[in-house]
Amino acid sequence: MSVARVAVPIAARQSFDYWVPDGLPVLRGSVVRVGVGARTLVGVVVEMPRESEVDPTRLRPIVELVGDVAPVPEDVLRLATFAADYYGQPLGSILACAAPPVGAASRRSGVRGVTKPARAPAASAGASSAGASAASTGASSTESPAAPHPGWHDPGARVGGALNSEQQRAAHAVTETLGRFETFLLHGVTGSGKTETYLAAAAEAVARGGQVLLLVPEINLTPQLAARVAAAFGGTPVGVLHSRLAAGARRTTWRDAAEGRARIVLGTRLAVFAPLPWLGLIVVDEEHDDSYRQEEGVRYHARDLAIVRARERGVPVVLASATPSLESFHRAEVGAYRLLCLGARAVPGARPPSVRFVTNRGLAAGAVVAAPVLEAIGERLGRAEQSLVFVNRRGFSPSLLCHACGWAACCPHCTARLVLHRESRELRCHHCGFARRVAPACPTCGNQDLTPVGAGTQRLEEQLSERFPQARIARVDRDTTTRRGAFAAVAQRVSSGEIDILVGTQMLAKGHDFPRLTLVAVLGADNALYSADFRATERLFAQLVQVGGRAGRARLAGEVLIQTDFAEHPLFQALCAQDYQSFARTLLAERRAADLPPYSHLALLEAQGRSREDVERFLADAWRLAREAIAALGGRCECFPPSTPSLARRAGLERGHLLVQSASRRDLHALLRAWRPELEAQGARRVRWRVDVDPADLG
Ligand SMILES: [Zn+2]
Ligand SMILES: [Zn+2]
Repeated sequence: MSVARVAVPIAARQSFDYWVPDGLPVLRGSVVRVGVGARTLVGVVVEMPRESEVDPTRLRPIVELVGDVAPVPEDVLRLATFAADYYGQPLGSILACAAPPVGAASRRSGVRGVTKPARAPAASAGASSAGASAASTGASSTESPAAPHPGWHDPGARVGGALNSEQQRAAHAVTETLGRFETFLLHGVTGSGKTETYLAAAAEAVARGGQVLLLVPEINLTPQLAARVAAAFGGTPVGVLHSRLAAGARRTTWRDAAEGRARIVLGTRLAVFAPLPWLGLIVVDEEHDDSYRQEEGVRYHARDLAIVRARERGVPVVLASATPSLESFHRAEVGAYRLLCLGARAVPGARPPSVRFVTNRGLAAGAVVAAPVLEAIGERLGRAEQSLVFVNRRGFSPSLLCHACGWAACCPHCTARLVLHRESRELRCHHCGFARRVAPACPTCGNQDLTPVGAGTQRLEEQLSERFPQARIARVDRDTTTRRGAFAAVAQRVSSGEIDILVGTQMLAKGHDFPRLTLVAVLGADNALYSADFRATERLFAQLVQVGGRAGRARLAGEVLIQTDFAEHPLFQALCAQDYQSFARTLLAERRAADLPPYSHLALLEAQGRSREDVERFLADAWRLAREAIAALGGRCECFPPSTPSLARRAGLERGHLLVQSASRRDLHALLRAWRPELEAQGARRVRWRVDVDPADLG
């Protein structure tokens, strides 16, 4: 009787053994349905052990081999195993991301659900001639794109032809390394042609029979981008993968990638697990973007996993950004990554936007936008050009205060202010979703004159439409774009000139090029300058560079106006000078002094529970266990006392933290491996906890 060890997506860390019914072609990587307790779950076979440690009579059979999806290939299994170990996540949960979504369970029972034999996993790297032949075989199938496009055989010439010499050198540096591992950091100002450069390298990889994995942040994955990529390759099939894609479409792309039909897989973070038997090159665009960090459910960082995968497969990986993460820039500084710089803007005649500062002082009561900003918008309206008013969301949320007694509208479940939503006359909590109607009077003193504080995008929109009654204004934020496709619809209206002023939050920073957009005004940036979050300035700089890049991308000159009380701040000065590198070095010096990443590696134990006492007791025990484990390992890690984050209570749960740190990643992981089982053995029933490796921030 053969036995299969199956990882299923449940919190338990171990995998379970099942017996394989006769004739069922199960192998490592097969996607199967198995019974777990009373449920039937989809899992992945991670091992075919010679025998089980479980008494054979107690083993349950595999219910079904899922026949309509390819098995998870060997390198993806190894990547998932690495991620499970590194981030301390159950392997089954990581594999649930790494396996394609499966259809509904077969209605037939048992092994008769099998519809076709599983294919052997194709994990060999760099078999370029085999790749090309598999692709042409695949192309004859009716559901896949037809025969190669005439432009397919030499797409390099097609894409590369438009490159300037600097871009050509950068693309060439990458293509020279095809067939071996190397990490590139492609750094260039907005509009310097990063996309064209990596697409040229990608075209070469495809021309040599390889597949290319192109990762982009969630919000950038627009139909326009997919079209642009497809066009760059003269119609070479592009598979698109993201989490909002319907399961059937995702399954199709997965299969096209696994069988080599999709030569380019363009996707968001989950695509890092796509099956790519002929993988030749990985590109991570906007590598600094926070959306590569998976925070819900299982946790991993797709950029970091992309590098692991490239190393494993022996292929180059390109990280592209105008504002690289400090981690990546540091790796380039110490020579671990090769830095490729693109200097000039690629569009002939286009100039970088000029940056000007406007003080907040002298703002009229209740006003949000300073007079010089309004004047600049007025000028644009006069010339039929467009303006973008960018609001740094943090600190820009309006709340409700009683000036008579000091009462503030707070969430009953969180240590947070409720946010005033004028249109729906509601107060809402942005942490837990709690909402209630705005009360007519202060619940404490009865005062009927409650004052909204903080501006908010709605107030901003009001002020703009009072001042410019003729202007067509569109607001883009979480309230207006919850519907799928709503943002794309607004972008379309901006492109076609139906909008004069665009108002909104970070969503606006990315993606689209609007040729008639010549003014970007930035409000509320000061809130991030002195934030407790150690990554706040790095993030703000990236956002401002990105949003500033929206101005004047075509032939019209662009201007960026920043409304601030701290114009002398090094961040703004670096922005003016378009000097990312010296600013990054300043930030790195600060990080080094504070012993923060990339000079140390962090893991944050987050605990939450109904009672503060339970949380504190758990963390006190965890602290003691950590110190014991550190002592046993020779003391190369540090453990800080438990602390309470500023959002001390969220959704009714008390929160507490414990930070562990080490100069060595290896030592930190040795500690986590020793510490985690001790924490599990505590059997804390009233406290939920998790360890966040490489946390985004410490709040
Ligand atoms: Zn009051
Ligand atoms: Zn709340």
